[in-house]
Amino acid sequence: MKVDFIIVGQGICGTWLSYYLSKTRASFVVIDNNKINSSSRTAAGIINPVTGRRVVKTWIIESLLSHLKIASVELERELGIPVLSQKNTIDFFPTQQSKSAFEERLKSEQHFLKHCNDQDKFHSLFQYEFGYGEINPCFLFNLQEVLPAWRNKLVASNRLVEEDFDIRNLSSNTKGVSYKNISAGKIIFCDGIASMQNPYFKHLPFAFNKGEALLIASAEIPTTTIYKKGIVLAPQKDNLFWVGSNYEWNFKDENPTKEFLDKTKKQLQDWLKVPFKIVDHKASIRPANLERRPFVGFLPNKKNIGILNGMGTKGCSLAPFFAKQFVDFLFHNSTIHAEADVARFKKTLE
Ligand SMILES: Cc1cc2nc3c(=O)[nH]c(=O)nc-3n(C[C@H](O)[C@H](O)[C@H](O)COP(=O)(O)OP(=O)(O)OC[C@H]3O[C@@H](n4cnc5c(N)ncnc54)[C@H](O)[C@@H]3O)c2cc1C
Repeated sequence: MKVDFIIVGQGICGTWLSYYLSKTRASFVVIDNNKINSSSRTAAGIINPVTGRRVVKTWIIESLLSHLKIASVELERELGIPVLSQKNTIDFFPTQQSKSAFEERLKSEQHFLKHCNDQDKFHSLFQYEFGYGEINPCFLFNLQEVLPAWRNKLVASNRLVEEDFDIRNLSSNTKGVSYKNISAGKIIFCDGIASMQNPYFKHLPFAFNKGEALLIASAEIPTTTIYKKGIVLAPQKDNLFWVGSNYEWNFKDENPTKEFLDKTKKQLQDWLKVPFKIVDHKASIRPANLERRPFVGFLPNKKNIGILNGMGTKGCSLAPFFAKQFVDFLFHNSTIHAEADVARFKKTLE
């Protein structure tokens, strides 16, 4: 088989990159091993314009959101399923300090933070003592349905190879790369945490962390909104809610733990006034990095080996934007954002 591009991985990065490549005349194949607990298959899909205890605005969020909205409408048309829905976050303040931090930020950030006049609206559903504010707009990306739907498209167009990519079978020269029976002009790694073992990229400053989530069923909580009080409740299909998460930097494996289950169950019991049932428990490792900026582009000394990775906690908002930048760079010679361009690690990568 001869193609222009090999893409390794079909998480959120490989999905958007192959989507944008499919809009060009380029030929490509995606190799993905369908890892059941990949980061993208575990994530909630939340796009939150503010982060952290200090409720600061997310890096380049205006550009990310305006791109995401257009891209999602296009993808929705192509797949015939809902891709992006606006679900604002009701942020219940767990402490007086968090309430004060929100109110302080509200003075200068009125675009994404809103004061809520009716502070009694949720007393029948939730236990809360310090009131709440609203983060608006927030969005949910429909990872659960989009990833398999795009995979089906790839299968239908003979562009998916479902297997473990083994880098020992990759060779490259100035003309291109070859992998088993596939020869290609370029290869782009979108393989999440597996890049840590990739001899070309393992020296990038990855700083993986593990996150866990529960899936709960609760018929009484409205699915119109995301709710947050230390943990997050994000509505999914069929009255299910994704509940998470945590950030573990020291972990022994990528499996769900009893500690998280017990702690989160207790948090839910203290917070929810309505019945719920735990139906699933997942865990995965986020492809995060020390700088909290993506890795986008080609090796400085091997222009046919590239990467789209390092999305950390924000794959759903960053991946569509940077996949598009990558494809524009390939076909229109435009630039990749300097803070995301992997060329910033020129010395390390050489
Ligand atoms: C608990 C949790 C909650 C999260 N919640 C959110 C959220 O709400 N919003 C948000 O934006 N982000 C969230 N994230 C982060 C988000 O999941 C990541 O930023 C994003 O999924 C990374 O996508 P990726 O495509 O780079 O990697 P991955 O999703 O890991 O995809 C890599 C793909 O490569 C494949 N692969 C790997 N190695 C090989 C190989 N050797 N051969 C073949 N295929 C291979 C895997 O099967 C996988 O499909 C969360 C993460 C976790 C763990």
